[in-house]
Amino acid sequence: METQIITRITPHEPASWQQSLANVVTDPFELLKALDLPLDLLPGVKQAARLFGLKVTHSYLKRIRKADPQDPLLLQVLPHLAETQPQPKNFSHDPVGDHDATQVPGVIHKYHGRVLLITTAACAIHCRYCFRRNFPYADSHAGRNQWQTALDYIANDESIEEVILSGGDPLVLADHKLAELCQKLSDIPHLKRLRLHTRLPIVLPERINDSFLDWISGSQLKIVLVVHCNHPNEINDEVATALNKLSDAGIPTFNQAVLLKHINDSVDILARLSKELFAASVMPYYLHQLDPVTGAAHFAVSVKKAQDLYAQLTALLPGYLVPRLVIEQAGMPAKTLLTP
Ligand SMILES: *Cc1c(COP(=O)(O)O)cnc(C)c1O
Ligand code: SF4
Repeated sequence: METQIITRITPHEPASWQQSLANVVTDPFELLKALDLPLDLLPGVKQAARLFGLKVTHSYLKRIRKADPQDPLLLQVLPHLAETQPQPKNFSHDPVGDHDATQVPGVIHKYHGRVLLITTAACAIHCRYCFRRNFPYADSHAGRNQWQTALDYIANDESIEEVILSGGDPLVLADHKLAELCQKLSDIPHLKRLRLHTRLPIVLPERINDSFLDWISGSQLKIVLVVHCNHPNEINDEVATALNKLSDAGIPTFNQAVLLKHINDSVDILARLSKELFAASVMPYYLHQLDPVTGAAHFAVSVKKAQDLYAQLTALLPGYLVPRLVIEQAGMPAKTLLTP
């Protein structure tokens, strides 16, 4: 089903980013070979990949150091045996209560004034700590034939001012599909803002092409972009160029990161991340405490350590470069701040 969405090439735009999306690495052996990693890792990688498949773009792969099993980008995508081990009691399949907050297929309405619209199940990369790694996407995203139900829900609730396209990753959809959906949304009078939650500018920067920029800057709704980047090594020149293009097109762009053990749980890395994002015209937004999703326990950082890091970061950076440290708790009216 995923491949159907991502490999379809439309006459409306150049095929290149869609070809890159179709050419992602999903074979554990290919990944280990490409990165000069010991092949004795293979059985464990394969076992963990059965629970949540390996998926990484070539663009992202190029930023991983070779022959370094501890590379902070590799750790985000390499399936690990720890994922298959028994998990602490508070870890579950749906840690943030998305199932209960799903109003109609693809619409998650938890907070005042804004709803999440799940437009596709597909992503360009599989992040091992993803809180939706076990989410039954196939049943719960609004495929094109269900858009109408989702649009009706939004049209019938005048308190909704903002729609957040999420997924999966909404930018795996072709521009003409995004434009069609966005057109329908802009016909709803009480909608003011359209937000895109996407990791594609980071993991497949060629996605930010002229056709996309034309669409996004021509939209009637005010558009906001929130990218997902966890480590400064994720930002190479290509990514910085793509992010700067968004800013040049007048799109406010923010970042959310997840605090991850052995990946970015150090004040130096977090400070560098904020500074390099800002240099690429992106404002830090959230630093999320890991959602306790089954299979991701080995990424968890304690709340105490998170708060310590936050205090150090605050002492080091201007206020506008410090993301809000938050945790998502089912049933709360917003993300919960973990800082005084
Ligand atoms: C995180 C989230 C949002 C967005 O929250 P903001 O604080 O506005 O960024 C909206 N809806 C749901 C269901 C969410 O999980
Ligand atoms: S890109 Fe986002 S939604 Fe997709 S796997 Fe990574 S964290 Fe999850």
